[in-house]
Amino acid sequence: MGRLCQTDGLTEDQTEILKAVRTFVDEQIIPVATELEHADEYPQEIVDGLKELGIFGLTIPEEYDGLGESLLTYALCVEEIARGWMSVSGVINTHFIVAYMLMRHGTEEQKKKYLPRMAAGEVRGAFSMSEPGLGSDVSAIKTKAVKDGDGWKIDGQKMWLTNGGTSNLVATLVRTGQADGDGGEESPYKSMTTFLVEKEEGFGETAPGLTIPGKIDKMGYKGVDTTEAVFEGFRTTDEQVLGGETGKGFYQMMDGVEVGRVNVAARACGIANRAFELAIAYSQQRETFGKPISEHQAILFRLAEMATKVETAHAMMVRAARMKDSGQRNDVEAGMAKMVASEYCNEVVQDSFRIHGGYGYSKEYEIERLYREAAFMLIGEGTSDIQKMIIGRALLKDYKLK
Ligand SMILES: Cc1cc2nc3c(=O)[nH]c(=O)nc-3n(C[C@H](O)[C@H](O)[C@H](O)COP(=O)(O)OP(=O)(O)OC[C@H]3O[C@@H](n4cnc5c(N)ncnc54)[C@H](O)[C@@H]3O)c2cc1C
Repeated sequence: MGRLCQTDGLTEDQTEILKAVRTFVDEQIIPVATELEHADEYPQEIVDGLKELGIFGLTIPEEYDGLGESLLTYALCVEEIARGWMSVSGVINTHFIVAYMLMRHGTEEQKKKYLPRMAAGEVRGAFSMSEPGLGSDVSAIKTKAVKDGDGWKIDGQKMWLTNGGTSNLVATLVRTGQADGDGGEESPYKSMTTFLVEKEEGFGETAPGLTIPGKIDKMGYKGVDTTEAVFEGFRTTDEQVLGGETGKGFYQMMDGVEVGRVNVAARACGIANRAFELAIAYSQQRETFGKPISEHQAILFRLAEMATKVETAHAMMVRAARMKDSGQRNDVEAGMAKMVASEYCNEVVQDSFRIHGGYGYSKEYEIERLYREAAFMLIGEGTSDIQKMIIGRALLKDYKLK
């Protein structure tokens, strides 16, 4: 184990869990990642191994058969997993967000119904906000649920569902109209509701009125499926409204996205750490002008800068996770961590790519995969522009002139 990405003050349990995950990553993920990624193959054996390790129930409370671990433990595991193969962290991330939203906002019946089966990995979560016409601007959601007798009817199109095909429970944000019906101007934020949409795994008509057309062919982040979802007269019931109350969906999703941002920051740290490891190894093997390239000062300085970026991003990610774990809102810290980690990840990967010279452009070398994976870090859970809006607006409130 290298000296980067160490975390002070971990409990014995956290240290043990991380050690087990790191061993799993080194032995079961890294040796097969690039081949599976190039084949765009779902990593079923790896997913089964993660189930055995208890990763699907890592943060689910013990009373619902999970391990009851913190967001920090989860984020550190994600960092390790992304160091091996970022797509694998994508398999568990939407599941984790849906479990988090259920723990925080679900009714007792919903928790009892889903959480134990989620901990076992039988119920697998995806979450869906984005649509073909919107991603950053969640307030513009068009997919609608209208009252239909005793239940609800959902119509509309969703886009970019990670694990859309491999999940059987999709937390879906739709427009339902304002809950309090105060007669005033309808707030886009109070007129949205999260539905817990049950469906079969796979593609095609996965529930009456819900079609998952197929995998979107992506630049990277392969292996894990990302899909559209088409709702045409999909019927559901009041019991499937998260928390049992309409009009709360936007806030529930934003809470979920805040932990999601820590998760993307952790993934970015994992990719950057791996890119650094590859670069420092390669730089000691490759010789030019009669010496290893690590002995050219330009390469040495590049390595020093890369490592410093990895450490900075890791420290910010850990702080954001610890804040959420302590019960505080971490919108600013999660936004900062996500922005810095994803931007630095791209810079570090680019530097590692340069250090690899022409070989970095060959598919035989791992850095080619990391290069494509890093790009997604700039987009998922909100772009850097959106993080800047969140951070800037919150700071203006904090520092408002008296
Ligand atoms: C592989 C993949 C997996 C995904 N998985 C999921 C998922 O599981 N669930 C889900 O709901 N979504 C998912 N998404 C969607 C993702 O969250 C969005 O793509 C992302 O939020 C950006 O939205 P957009 O693509 O609509 O870009 P847009 O919102 O159209 O933005 C385009 C550009 O404009 C900039 N921009 C937008 N608004 C502003 C502004 N106000 N000020 C300054 N700049 C601005 C953006 O930063 C960006 O550069 C996924 C996306 C991808 C690519």
